[in-house]
This record gives sequence, structure tokens and C-alpha cells, in this order.
Amino acid sequence: MQFPAEPFKIKVVEPIKKTTRDQRDHLIRKAGFNVFNLPAESIYVDLLTDSGTSAMSDNQWAGIMIGDESYAGSKSYFNFERSIKSIFGFKHIIPTHQGRSAENLLFSITLTSGDIVPNNIHFDTTRANVLHKHGKPIDLVIDEAMDPDCEHPFKGNMDTTKLQTFLNETEPDRVPLVMMTVTNNSAGGQPVSMENIRQVRAICQKHQRPFYIDACRFAENCYFIKERESGYADRSILEIARELFSYADGCTMSAKKDGLVNIGGFLAMNDDALAEKAANLLILVEGFPTYGGLAGRDLEAVARGLQEVLDEDYLAFRVGQIRYLGEMLDQAGVPFVKPVGGHAIFLNAKDFLPHIPRHQFPGQALTVALYREAGIRAVEIGGLMFGEKDEKNHQEKYPELELVRLAVPRRVYTSTHMNYVAESIIEIYKNRDRIKGLRLMYEAPLLRHFTARMEELD
Ligand SMILES: *Cc1c(COP(=O)(O)O)cnc(C)c1O
Repeated sequence: MQFPAEPFKIKVVEPIKKTTRDQRDHLIRKAGFNVFNLPAESIYVDLLTDSGTSAMSDNQWAGIMIGDESYAGSKSYFNFERSIKSIFGFKHIIPTHQGRSAENLLFSITLTSGDIVPNNIHFDTTRANVLHKHGKPIDLVIDEAMDPDCEHPFKGNMDTTKLQTFLNETEPDRVPLVMMTVTNNSAGGQPVSMENIRQVRAICQKHQRPFYIDACRFAENCYFIKERESGYADRSILEIARELFSYADGCTMSAKKDGLVNIGGFLAMNDDALAEKAANLLILVEGFPTYGGLAGRDLEAVARGLQEVLDEDYLAFRVGQIRYLGEMLDQAGVPFVKPVGGHAIFLNAKDFLPHIPRHQFPGQALTVALYREAGIRAVEIGGLMFGEKDEKNHQEKYPELELVRLAVPRRVYTSTHMNYVAESIIEIYKNRDRIKGLRLMYEAPLLRHFTARMEELD
């Protein structure tokens, strides 16, 4: 057997239906060749995102039924707080409705205009929240992260030399905190090593700068540490997580990822004065500190999800399922980013469709083909998402990589679905010459990929 079989059986099912190619051709045209405009009902395997798309366990659903909806002092909040403290160890736990509101709170109370925040790579919402407070986000990931064929075991690591140099050259007052994203989402769900976290911690201590972790996929990261880093093979995921967070002063978390829930998040920290500020702002924008924008039942689901995600059988299946998909694609020579990360496969559209030039959006053309040929929804992470007009010569500037992300929801699809996805992609790869480029017809001034409309070229 190539990968661990599902460590769960299915108690509730949600039917999905395969439409015909003709139906999908009609729908994708109507959607302006943008998969964000498709009705979800017309999708067979939806790999748009792993965020908020997890299947909850029977234990979590049972928690939903007994959620305590008291405005203040809810029992479910205390369960939530206890569960988080047992893993993350921080003193103050501030519930938020999702990750970006935790980021917004954190930067609202720590950042002033002109401040700089270093990170391995800022996730989009983290970057946007730093910019919103007139700060400057900088990414100091190791150079290997930009090479799609480099098989570094911890390709999400911070470049500690770059961080050291940056802190030596910058006024300490201008750096409210240093952040690390685990796993490094924007680098392809690539993990960060404990050694790297320890080094970043030491650098932060030397410069007396607080160190925060963007913890969205902490359990997947801890599983990679156990697998790949010497000294951790015999440690439990809980022990590894506790060590990891012991090096930090706080964290932001979107429970929509490794919390195994559909909504929820939190901000955690040790600093008493800062926590008080965060709680006061929380009351203004989210809610009272014992629910913070969530229902009691949601708090209960997060409390239980965070314990379940530490289960090694689950993580072996989770990481193994994506690796399994990667192995099938690799055997057929389909180009994608190596090594396989924790939550997704990133197809390399430049190599997949060398006949389509950058200005005809090869990543989006591949995304369209996945839907039209197989009813699979992926997302382009390339020229459509990150391309921008150069102020001076009005030419489009494209990001280095042109990728298509297949993000796998947690506990939702079986290995048979993965076989289907692999077979479909291999078939599309064999007939890749037939795929046509696209032309942009409408774009919004910001975050254009969500609403763009396109036309297919002949
Ligand atoms: C999803 C995500 C966020 C933002 O969380 P939301 O719940 O979507 O607001 C922040 N950082 C990383 C690394 C993420 O993947």
C-alpha cells in the first residue's frame, strides 16, 4: 500500500455529481473563464482551498450541540481556552472569528506608520493587514524557496543571515515584531524546522524584538519536523508543538486550517499589557472576550478540533494523501513544485504549458482546463493573481512563479478521489497542446483574480 488508508469511517455523506463536459463548457464561458464565478454545485472535486472546508468529526458535532451560548463566561470559552493553552502554552487567548481578524488586532496594537515586519513569507491577509496599518511587510525566506525543483526538507525556513543583517541595519523601534509562518503557505505549504525557529528566537532575543508565529498549519509543520528533523522521531506531535511555541511570544491562528473547523481563530500572547489592549479592541470590533465573534458552539468545535489534529494517524493520512497525489503525477512527468508541501500540490504552469506566453495566463488556462475537462476546481497563483502594471512603461510585470494550486480539504476526499484527480490531470497533460491562452476583459483595481473576466484565444 502506498499511503495510509483513511483513519476514519464515513457517518454522514454529501452527494456530489459529475456534470457533462458540455455543461461545464457552457458554465465556464458564462463565468468569464474565472472559477470563482462558478456555482459550487457544478464542481466534482473542489480543491480551491483547504480553508474552512474541513469535515468535522462526530465528536465536534456533538460539541456543537452542547455549545454554551452565554454572552459572558461561557463554558465553551473555557474549554476553548484550556484546549489552546494545553498545546500553545500562551498566557492570554483571544478568540476571533478567523485568522485575519487576529492579525488585524495584533498589528493594530503593535504597529505604527512606517514600521517594518519581517516574516519568512507573509500570507496575503497578513501582508494586507501590515499595509493597512501603513507598515512595510518584508519576506526573508531562504532562496531555495523560489526554485520549484529544489528538494530542501525545510523549504519554508527564514534566511537567518538576511534577518540578522536586516535587524543590524534597522532601528529596533521600527520593528514591532518578527513573524514566522508555519507551514509557509505562500512558499507551497513548505515546513519550517525547529532548528530554524530556535535560531530566529535567538536573533530576536539578541535584538529584544518580540517573536510571533502565524500558526495556521502548525500540526502539519510538526509532523514534518517529526519525519525529517533529527531528534524528533520519538517525540509526540503535542510535545513538538509545545516546544515550537515555547520559543515564541505569541501567535495568530486561523482555526479554519489545522483547527479542523469551518470558522474560527484566535490571537494568543504572554504580554499582559498587550493582551489587555487586544481585548479592549476585540470588544469594539468582534465581541466580548469570552466569545470574540464566534458562537459558543464554534468555540466548542475548535476546542475539540485542535486536539484531534494532533493525532498522528490523522497527520500521516493527511500529509500522505497529498504526497500520494504527488507521486502519481510525478510518475507521469507532470511538472509541480517539489517537495510536496503539507496542504496542496502546486502545478508548475510554465512547464506544463510552454506554448502559452505569460501574457496569455498559462496558470489560468490550466485552471480552466481542469474544470472543463474534469470538474476539478483549483486556483491560479501566478500572473492573474499577482501580475501588476508597471507605473512607468505600463507593461505587465509577472511574479517569478506561475502556479496552479490544488489545495486538499481535510478529511473530505478519499484516496479514490485523489486517483480521479491524478488520472484527469495526466490525461490533460497528454493533450496539453490543445489548451489555449486567455485574454483579460475586465479587471478590478485590487485583488483582480476574484472578479476578473476573460476570453479564450484561438
Ligand atoms: C488562511 C491564512 C491566514 C488568514 O486566515 P483566515 O481565517 O482566512 O482569515 C493567515 N495566514 C495563513 C498562513 C493562512 O493560511
